[in-house]
Amino acid sequence: MELQGSRFADFLKPGQVVYNLKAEDKIQAVEELLDVLVKLKLIENKKPILTRVLDRERLESTAIGHGVALPHARMDTGHDIAVVVGRSAAGIDFDSVDKKKVHIIILIVWNPSIPGLFNHLFAGLAQFLRNPGFRKRLLEAKNKTELYKVISEIELNLPVQEDKIISRASLLWKLQEIEIQKKKAPKAKKKELQKKADLIRQELDVALLDRFDRLMERYGFAVAEVEGGACLGCFINVATGMGSAIEGSNDIYVCENCGKFLISKKKTHQ
Ligand SMILES: [Zn+2]
Repeated sequence: MELQGSRFADFLKPGQVVYNLKAEDKIQAVEELLDVLVKLKLIENKKPILTRVLDRERLESTAIGHGVALPHARMDTGHDIAVVVGRSAAGIDFDSVDKKKVHIIILIVWNPSIPGLFNHLFAGLAQFLRNPGFRKRLLEAKNKTELYKVISEIELNLPVQEDKIISRASLLWKLQEIEIQKKKAPKAKKKELQKKADLIRQELDVALLDRFDRLMERYGFAVAEVEGGACLGCFINVATGMGSAIEGSNDIYVCENCGKFLISKKKTHQ
């Protein structure tokens, strides 16, 4: 499937937009949206996808702030991708980073046979959702037609510099915590932790995971916190300006001294 130059509307028909969600909480909202996909025959089995989406939410909320959430799951549904958008006027508690209720939910289920699709799609979405003017139009759309029109404008051109909407550093941090727990866990618990680890691994590129695994093997940990401008993995100061860049960014930084991935201590203590 060619994504370069495509529009979000290529994956979204008007029937995949719900202007007034009835749901009052996160689980109901995901269920209501999946029901739409079942009705449109874009997915067959709701239950396993619901479980996967909610497991992913439990790892880390996909609410990105400013009233928007992007719940997702990677699963073979027989289709490349299934997208559905819901709007809630009252708002839904989605454990958002900014503690605000979510009014727009973009739910995406994509096929694992299409590598990279997730990153491309989210990079395209990120560019639009970061724009306050665009968000305002999205949140203030007066009816279903208007909402569909606004969403249809999203282009999926690959940005020159990939814009990451999901914090990969914090996913790597979670993966590290799970891998460390896994080492000491009894057999039954190990399986459960492995399932969580796999969920995270599905969202990260192979090269990144490769590096992560090598660091884990060599040092027992791969991601180091940054505090007061120093890498807590090696206690050497990181390059000037990098400390604050790490705090404000969703991208991956690597310690120039010890080679570990860096994460802001603020992000690990949320
Ligand atoms: Zn270091």
